[in-house]
Amino acid sequence: MRACVLAAPGGGGIEHLQISDVPDALAPGPGEVRVAIRAAALNHLDLFVAAGLPGGAEHFPHIVGADAAGVVESVGSGVAGVRAGDRVMLNPGISDYTCEFCRAGEHSLCVHYRLLGEHLPGTAAELVTVPAHNVARIPNITPELTWPEAAAFSLVTLTAWRMVVTRAQVKTGETVLVWGVGGGVSLAALRIAKLFGARVIVTSSDDAKLAAARKLSADVTLNHRTQNVAQEIRALTNKRGVDVVVDNVGTATWDDSLRCLRRGGCLVICGATSGPQVGLDLRRLFWHQWSILGSTMGNAGEYAEIVRRLANGALRPIVDRVYPMAAVRDAYAHLAKGEQFGKVVLELPSSA
Ligand SMILES: [Zn+2]
Repeated sequence: MRACVLAAPGGGGIEHLQISDVPDALAPGPGEVRVAIRAAALNHLDLFVAAGLPGGAEHFPHIVGADAAGVVESVGSGVAGVRAGDRVMLNPGISDYTCEFCRAGEHSLCVHYRLLGEHLPGTAAELVTVPAHNVARIPNITPELTWPEAAAFSLVTLTAWRMVVTRAQVKTGETVLVWGVGGGVSLAALRIAKLFGARVIVTSSDDAKLAAARKLSADVTLNHRTQNVAQEIRALTNKRGVDVVVDNVGTATWDDSLRCLRRGGCLVICGATSGPQVGLDLRRLFWHQWSILGSTMGNAGEYAEIVRRLANGALRPIVDRVYPMAAVRDAYAHLAKGEQFGKVVLELPSSA
């Protein structure tokens, strides 16, 4: 089968991506399905993998991509929920369904948790074999979801849902700050926080993105390149600060995230695109009684819930640009520039 691969370990970046012929994904074993992929969406994670993430891929050539949608090609024994021919989306987080955390329903805490395209072969390939737990039928909504939209849904929506709903428990009337609104997680966080009745303040360095965010019902927009976000937040909240900050930027936003937080507020973090190291004055932490929460992906119950919300029309993915698989380097380069509003997606030939 044809696949987008990194040929060798050690990173080397985007120029080491290539389209190659690789062995077909294995026929599905018990409880597994094999999916003929029609579109695969990129995430910031894919840039880290291309740069050589420590603890990442072990087998090369390594197929990239975490998100995807396609048609079920075959199913293994014991699979009941889906059948060949079904249009499905993939949940990129693979759990063992046996450890203590899985038994408690917390699949993204699984001691063997792995992500497609990071630890495991990815989704930018003609065929992908995954546990049947990890596929969901694409809901029929009007207008019909395109393959790129379906591929763009899972990772960022699941991540944002767990951050906003499960971890930070955003409630009606609360004020939420979301950094960097062009990215997929931030866009999903904005829309989910609005679903739960929050007042949402978003930032970007790009006024066009801020205008687009207002159309998605962002209440306040701040340009973090030209405005002092912490000062603006204090003015907007009568010096109180926001209830929740949603941050996947890391080093670059850490100090301002804390300056923006109210007493007893919650900072929830799912990524560190600008760097992972930060400083913390513990006296401020305990005096202000802040909660600083990590969050990764989500569990099976949360995934089912976001698929239900997609079926209701509430969480339709936003696609920035679609590239043919052969233009994978251009797609990565576009993502790396950070100019996107929504998801960057690879489309596979329909003969796949
Ligand atoms: Zn587990």
